[in-house]
Amino acid sequence: MKRTDRKSLGKSQRKLVAAAEAAMKTSYSPYSGFAVGAALMTCGGKIIAGSNVENAAYGSTICAERAALVRANVMGNRSFKSLAIVAGPVRRGRSARGCVAAPCGACRQMLFEASRIAGRDLEVILLGADRKTVVLTSISELLPLGFFLCKSAAGKSRAKVAAGSKGKP
Ligand SMILES: [Zn+2]
Repeated sequence: MKRTDRKSLGKSQRKLVAAAEAAMKTSYSPYSGFAVGAALMTCGGKIIAGSNVENAAYGSTICAERAALVRANVMGNRSFKSLAIVAGPVRRGRSARGCVAAPCGACRQMLFEASRIAGRDLEVILLGADRKTVVLTSISELLPLGFFLCKSAAGKSRAKVAAGSKGKP
């Protein structure tokens, strides 16, 4: 995990962060007032974004990361190399500090499975509400013992835990 500055990002990382910021503007978050934008970069370089969508029945709310994943799936994309997330108050200027929002547990699990499908770790770029502070990490770092099902020789599924999934999942 590395804390850095937006200016230090590479060209494709900056592009991905900008896509997450654009998606953040589409957030439907009337209850929390907390907008989140996420953007996935496929292994082929395509960018697919999502934003959080809340609901009066709070449990029905979907996070920006999973919205992007579901959208990408519909578009036929399941292999990703990078993810950018930006989050902050809907009304800018209200406590827009440098703290970053990391994915929740459910999103980490979904992103972990996506990294297994891709056969590679997923880079995660977290942009702070100040739009300057950046934390660089990866899904293997955020969820080191992710849950997955693997097929046995008999073709039956059985639950496994990825032990020490650092690097290649
Ligand atoms: Zn989440």
